[in-house]
Amino acid sequence: MLERRIADMLDTNPVADALHIPTGVWTGLVHHDDQTDSSTISFAPDGTVALRTPRSVGTGVWSADQPGRFAYELTEIFTPAADRSGRVQIHVEAHLEGAVYRGIGTVRVYSPDGVLVHTTTSAAFTGDRLAGGQAAWHDVVSLGAPIRGRTLYPGDEGFEEACSGWLLTVEHRPAAVVVAADADDVAAAVRFAAKAGRPVAVQSTGHGKSVPADGAVFIATGELRELSVDPRAGTARIGAGLRWGEVLTAAAEHGLAPLCGSSGQVGVMGYLTGGGLPLTCRAYGFAADYVRSLDIVTADGLLRTVSPAQEPDLFWAVRGGKSNFGVVVAAEIELLPLRTIYGGELCYPGEDPRYAAHVLGSYLAWVKEQPEEMSSSVTLLRFPDAPQLPEEFRGRSFVQFRVVYTGDEERGAQLVEPLRALGPEKDTCGAMPYTQITEIYQDPKNPVRAHLRSALLHELDDEAVEELVSFIDPSTPGGPFPGIELRHLGGALNRSPGRSHAVSTQGAAFHLWMRMPAPAEQASDEVLERLRRWDTGAMLPGFLFDHDSAPERVRRAYTEADYRRLAALKAEYDPNHLFRINHNIPPFSNGERARSSTAQDMR
Ligand SMILES: Cc1cc2nc3c(=O)[nH]c(=O)nc-3n(C[C@H](O)[C@H](O)[C@H](O)COP(=O)(O)OP(=O)(O)OC[C@H]3O[C@@H](n4cnc5c(N)ncnc54)[C@H](O)[C@@H]3O)c2cc1C
Repeated sequence: MLERRIADMLDTNPVADALHIPTGVWTGLVHHDDQTDSSTISFAPDGTVALRTPRSVGTGVWSADQPGRFAYELTEIFTPAADRSGRVQIHVEAHLEGAVYRGIGTVRVYSPDGVLVHTTTSAAFTGDRLAGGQAAWHDVVSLGAPIRGRTLYPGDEGFEEACSGWLLTVEHRPAAVVVAADADDVAAAVRFAAKAGRPVAVQSTGHGKSVPADGAVFIATGELRELSVDPRAGTARIGAGLRWGEVLTAAAEHGLAPLCGSSGQVGVMGYLTGGGLPLTCRAYGFAADYVRSLDIVTADGLLRTVSPAQEPDLFWAVRGGKSNFGVVVAAEIELLPLRTIYGGELCYPGEDPRYAAHVLGSYLAWVKEQPEEMSSSVTLLRFPDAPQLPEEFRGRSFVQFRVVYTGDEERGAQLVEPLRALGPEKDTCGAMPYTQITEIYQDPKNPVRAHLRSALLHELDDEAVEELVSFIDPSTPGGPFPGIELRHLGGALNRSPGRSHAVSTQGAAFHLWMRMPAPAEQASDEVLERLRRWDTGAMLPGFLFDHDSAPERVRRAYTEADYRRLAALKAEYDPNHLFRINHNIPPFSNGERARSSTAQDMR
């Protein structure tokens, strides 16, 4: 099965076949010293050879002196990093018998300090030709050598899963996946990619996929599972494989809370490097304000700890600049002494446009009166009359409010009272443990095939209300519009916390976010077009998705000054543009355009 999949990915090479040379990919067995290993070996037309067995990877050269006869020498053989027992060298004399090769070889085992400790002269090598060409992993096979975690190549079991993720609309086809076991693995993968001239991609959960990581060295951080809470300091140290739900639970054991967003499934590092708009954003500002330090592997393969005191410019840039500056392997964040909140959902029928406009208009007036401790959003929903939907949603429209108040229950209930007076058909508001905060939004947990779009909006007036309500009016053609969410901004988001970072709302009043099923993508364009009058043109870096990967869209996520500073720092920390599989900030220094082709594209 695995072999078939490998074969499917390879070209056949009829010329090589006709010349009776081994160019191609072979699977077979290696037998020496009473042990037998399966092996896959790739002979490339350039005379290089690459080998994989379950216990080792190796590279070397091959040559053919007469038709059907050839020799190969594997000089760089590595056992898995966990068992670095020394170097092995193999020399094999082989001949072809149609689609089979057989060889006899010498295996020399050296101690770690280079002393020859063992020689086998009659090791047996066999292989069946799988395909012509060379294996997709041929030039990256030695990446597996220094890795303690797993290195997966196209066709390997687990490869597809490792580079999949929540957002199914973007598919990655990297050259190799490194499922990193620790920071050293990340550093080794980055160094390898730099040497091999391949870009680096990093992914945790796949909630924020941007561009396909084709041909890249793809670092999967899911197994970087460090998580510890220091209740005295009120901080947590978090590995890059953690999701917010896990941090919520661990912090709550000490009566503490992290500033998470609407989904417990979102990865901590993708969120923090995008700035992090928490559900309590008006009370506390961006989650990036609460990052104490980050451990990051930069393009030179070095692991650095950055903080306000250590490399402050890089610390500034990573909080907002996403993966443009390296792979964050761990973060130390401040937690808040928040055990409970007052919050929930209020849902109103949206089919009658006059009533819907009244509800939405009342909300927009209500938010103006709210203290900073009250964060909220309104979502406009219009469902198709589709049998696969639960009956209560079929063909219906709704106006839905979500509120999160960080003060006490009594005051929270008072503040929500005007919304209750509008007559919701569903009301879940009440005091709740902070650990349930993400339940208020009920974001989908399973992977989705959707297009996500966002924008930052100015204050909304009566005309905006009319326009917005028209999206859920059943008598208006178009749609369906399953979820146009407007999060109320302002409050602490607008204050400079003294710990500046590369993210800001750029003075916007609302954050608009849409999650459209893939076939309804053009509906998002329609919404954005019709709301253009209220669109600031800016975006948040944490809400850039696949549609936003063009440099001019990425640029919108930053103020002009921040973008220039980011691009200059990019030139300093990633001059060769290794980290470009992302919402990319091309490097340029002192205002000059840099060497990258993407920078050329911006002209
Ligand atoms: C359902 C849902 C709800 C959301 N709610 C909120 C919210 O309330 N508030 C908010 O601010 N955002 C929210 N977001 C946006 C989310 O924060 C971003 O999409 C974020 O990038 C997802 O991070 P991830 O690690 O889960 O995703 P991934 O797809 O794994 O990563 C996305 C990107 O983050 C960067 N990245 C990931 N890991 C690292 C790392 N270790 N080092 C450096 N860069 C890294 C890379 O550029 C990567 O391409 C939401 C997204 C979804 C899909």
